[in-house]
Amino acid sequence: MTTPELRKEFTEFFVKEYGHVPVKSSSLIPHNDKSLMFTNAGMVQFKDYFRNPATAPFKQATTIQKCMRAGGKHNDLDNVGYTPRHHTFFEMLGNFSFGEYSKSKAIQMAWRFLTQVVKLPKDRLRVTVLASDQESYDLWKNQEGIPEDRIIRCDEKDNFWTMGEGAGPCGPCTEIFWDTQNDDLGEDRWLEIWNLVFMQHYRNDQGQLENLPVVCVDTGMGLERLASVVQSKENNYETDVFGPMFDGLHKIMIDAGIESSRDINATPHKKIIVDHLRAMSFLIADGVIPSNVGRGYVLRRIIRRALRSGNQLGFSKPFMTDLYPSFLDSLKDGVYPDMVARQDSIKGVIHQEEEIFMSTLSKGLALLEPIFKQKDLVGSKQVPAEIAFKLYDTFGFPLDLTVLIAEERGWTVDLVEVEKLRQKQQEQGRASWRSGSNTVFLTKALEWKEQGVFPTFSGYRRELLSGQS
Ligand code: ATP
Ligand code: MG
Ligand code: MG
Ligand code: MG
Repeated sequence: MTTPELRKEFTEFFVKEYGHVPVKSSSLIPHNDKSLMFTNAGMVQFKDYFRNPATAPFKQATTIQKCMRAGGKHNDLDNVGYTPRHHTFFEMLGNFSFGEYSKSKAIQMAWRFLTQVVKLPKDRLRVTVLASDQESYDLWKNQEGIPEDRIIRCDEKDNFWTMGEGAGPCGPCTEIFWDTQNDDLGEDRWLEIWNLVFMQHYRNDQGQLENLPVVCVDTGMGLERLASVVQSKENNYETDVFGPMFDGLHKIMIDAGIESSRDINATPHKKIIVDHLRAMSFLIADGVIPSNVGRGYVLRRIIRRALRSGNQLGFSKPFMTDLYPSFLDSLKDGVYPDMVARQDSIKGVIHQEEEIFMSTLSKGLALLEPIFKQKDLVGSKQVPAEIAFKLYDTFGFPLDLTVLIAEERGWTVDLVEVEKLRQKQQEQGRASWRSGSNTVFLTKALEWKEQGVFPTFSGYRRELLSGQS
């Protein structure tokens, strides 16, 4: 099955067979939720219904939610390119009940979907439950007939789901894993595909757990992971989701005179580029603009990390917008029309950011590379804080990018020292702000405002005008 088929099968299963209401994905920018940087799960748009099920316009819903995990509690930015299963942007298939059905039905539906609709062999699946959740354990064992050695009891770290660090609905979960049968992968032999959360509590601002009026159900399954299993691939990147983008990347590398092989696993960089291209495009389409604060800064980091990976592959000029058409090819079932309709604006933002950073990237790298050979430093294997700070301040290297490059060599960066330098500079900056000098960001922002760039991007304008992100 292709990913468009999986989307369709999933939605039809819950709508036609079990009467769920199909609800559109919400924006990557959570609505009315200051506690969360990005929508990181399907439940985010329904958060309030768990607490007050009576206010929900439907008792059960199904979604295919755009998710971003590049900041806050759920942050997979550093995993991208290095694990078979993590993206920054991904799609989460989910079904939800606001007091309508029980654990028993939630478990039964998930098992039916995987074993009867998608037809995964039962003996390659295993499940985990929260150690204290005997009810779920018994349901898997008695209702679905899963042998006891395939039901693993776990602690709260793994099987108690919370959306973020602050207040919010939460509860025990039971997860379904696929056996890749690859012993070389260690713990990763078992691929987590679906998480069924039983929302039973609300963690209040003081961190105490209150009981919710009724148990609600919130499930989430990564579409790309399901596709990797169904299409018998070793990692998400080998699925049809990414095929067109890797083809496009291969082609633009050849066109640029860069050697390229079809092997996408040879370096992490091709994976980082295709992952980050999706992430940046969806973020921009939802109204985020690169900036030096908040969401805008996460976007900037994503773009700059992708550009650095491009540099590692051999690109010396902006290339990301040349890859955009193959990104659109990967969406050709028309599931995200915004990405086509807004392509000029999206490409414009990416291109501008590329122009800014590409000009300083190689100069910054030229400063950093010799450090790894410097005799007095190879003992400690630590990049001096002044260098990391200069890269950040003068060359626009997000700190995590410097850390990433250092880690590739087995080096570290003294982040505490860098932070001190940053604070010192900020104090000086504040002094000069008061004395009337300007900042690049403010000038740029006012310019954009005057030009009325991206008039449809209300999120951006709100952020810009209120000076926050
Ligand atoms: P993992 O342990 O693999 O990091 P998780 O436990 O953090 O996953 P959940 O919060 O339970 O993930 O999210 C529900 C589902 O969403 C997961 O079972 C998985 O299928 C999918 N998923 C989670 N994070 C990612 C990601 N970064 N990229 C792709 N799919 C993801
Ligand atoms: Mg995770
Ligand atoms: Mg997990
Ligand atoms: Mg999980």
